[in-house]
Amino acid sequence: MRRGSLSERTIKCSKPGCACAQDPMARHGPYHSLTQAVEGRTRSRFLTAEQAPLARQQIDAGRKFRAQVDAYWEACEEWADGQLANVAASSEEAKKGGSKRTSKTKSSRKSKRS
Ligand SMILES: [Zn+2]
Repeated sequence: MRRGSLSERTIKCSKPGCACAQDPMARHGPYHSLTQAVEGRTRSRFLTAEQAPLARQQIDAGRKFRAQVDAYWEACEEWADGQLANVAASSEEAKKGGSKRTSKTKSSRKSKRS
């Protein structure tokens, strides 16, 4: 399993007088290029024709895993939202209790005055 993507590339060589310099159809390849973004940088390397199908399977497995992880995150966050809602409800109850307390202090002030 891996992240990244696989693409086919044709490249120009640096041989002087090689047709690839002018003619896009004469470019070398295609070569299989495995690309992955790592910490903001794009890392890529070439794979052989034998490696390419396996890498494609690895990328596919990674994509499925990511979809499952995303679904798991969604379920967890739904549950977490429920927890937050419970905290909000209990803090509202605490406010009600607090207002009772303030009314008591008001009455105690009244008793001080009298
Ligand atoms: Zn060439």
